[in-house]
Amino acid sequence: MAFEPFRNEPFTDFTDEAAAAAYRQALNDVRGRLGGRWPLVIGGERVTTDRWLPSLDPCDPDTVVGEVAMAGADEIERAMEAATAAYADWSRWPMPSRARALVRLAAIMRRRKLEFCAWETFEAGKNWREADADVAEAIDFLEYYARESLALAEPLATHHWQGEENITTLQPMGVGVVIPPWNFLLAILVGTVAAPVAVGNTVVVKPSPATPVIAGLFMECVEEAGLPPGVINLLTGADADLGDALVDDRRTRFINFTGSVPTGTRIHERAAKVQEGQRFVKRTMLEMGGKDALIVDETAELDLAADAVVASAFSFNGQKCSALSRLIVVDEVHDALMERVLERARRLQVGSAAENADVTAVITQRQFDRITTYLEAAPEQGRVVLGGGRAKDAGPGWFIQPTIVDDVAADAPLAREEVFGPVLAVVRARDFEHAVEIFNSVDYGLTGGLISRSRERIERARSELEAGNLYINRKITGALVGVQPFGGFKLSGTNSKAGGPDYLRLFMEAKTVTERF
Ligand code: NAD
Repeated sequence: MAFEPFRNEPFTDFTDEAAAAAYRQALNDVRGRLGGRWPLVIGGERVTTDRWLPSLDPCDPDTVVGEVAMAGADEIERAMEAATAAYADWSRWPMPSRARALVRLAAIMRRRKLEFCAWETFEAGKNWREADADVAEAIDFLEYYARESLALAEPLATHHWQGEENITTLQPMGVGVVIPPWNFLLAILVGTVAAPVAVGNTVVVKPSPATPVIAGLFMECVEEAGLPPGVINLLTGADADLGDALVDDRRTRFINFTGSVPTGTRIHERAAKVQEGQRFVKRTMLEMGGKDALIVDETAELDLAADAVVASAFSFNGQKCSALSRLIVVDEVHDALMERVLERARRLQVGSAAENADVTAVITQRQFDRITTYLEAAPEQGRVVLGGGRAKDAGPGWFIQPTIVDDVAADAPLAREEVFGPVLAVVRARDFEHAVEIFNSVDYGLTGGLISRSRERIERARSELEAGNLYINRKITGALVGVQPFGGFKLSGTNSKAGGPDYLRLFMEAKTVTERF
């Protein structure tokens, strides 16, 4: 195979005036196309229904980014049939042929990168850097899985047995349902679709109702890349119409889900039931929430720590599954660290994503209300030292002030529950031992980190801190495809490790054939 070696898509430097001007131009171009209608895609056909779901700009909810067709039971039936029909052929394509189709899809998306970024700015309220990183990650997933799939065409290593040939090979599984969240609206959608498809499965993808337009744009690229009709089918619409029905469908062989714990565990439970006519056990890949913590001990370099805290807690408004939401600081350096953290956090500008503000609006009214409920309860759980409410001057959208609540007890809701907004709880620890105990005391185990100069503690953290992605002496967000395979422990999920070497194997089953001569 002659693909060039995998390398991560470079990030754009927006301090370069030419890059900034190009971004503004892309925003202008896309602004002229807002409000359009986007169809479902079933078996390669564009399908509309008589119900339309609006997608709103979080920074200006009067702006309709687009309207997507709302699928129902008929469209589910058609999409599952289309995916089943396409599977017969796609599953037999040689691995390199499928890989080429994905590399071509990546090339098409790379050519439209700025356009994708601009749509993300409007649909998800991502500032330029966050949109650029998300689109880069989507391209990375395609390139990485295309290359990783090639090795899976080879038989697995087994031992010989006299007088026999034994061979174990991997094969695809069937039709999968892919359910991504809204926060990495393109990267997770593309990654969770591309992996099963790379190894011969076909899928029905159901994006979040908060960010469905980007999926329509992706499907344009899928068509241009020449993937056979029915390999990737798109159903948009309401969770109540689509979620349970797709999970329960007797043809659904696996569910590739990323989202919150309540939805993920519901899917897990429903998928366990064998439906009439179903002849397999459904497989679920469930990547869920976090209550991600950073420990800063008394040996830490405090400027480095403060930079890491502010970047991890407030980039994309704390709406990353990896976002820092618990700062665990050893008492001795608490005041010195907080002074530095506050000084940096006060400088964050809150405003529109199109204007490239540091902190923008949160995704929906529902999420705004949920975060506000936590903020209202915050004064009973600690000292609100920054923010604490709506950012009224930032614009008409769902803006929340970057908020820091100090001296929160380790067992308070703010220190245990995922808020998913720009809200940081600070918990004091007596010493490093106590900090480790607090770190591990929650139900989640997604990301986390330690800022320390102590070699002994760094080594202990490597084994003792319960996080699927642990970062030492840096920020705890921004995992790179192929570099930092991503996925958590405990209630954070099934540890699929997206962007890692074992991921594709999850969408395959192995067959062993023995012939005695
Ligand atoms: P969510 O659980 O509300 O929704 C996730 C997806 O599930 C969406 O597509 C939604 O439409 C769909 N859904 C809703 N009800 C459903 C049902 N009954 N059956 C099937 N699907 C249903 O989560 P969200 O608000 O979209 O995303 C934020 C959450 O995702 C946070 O908890 C965050 O930590 C988590 N997340 C985790 C990772 C990770 O890799 N672990 C990555 C990103 C986000």
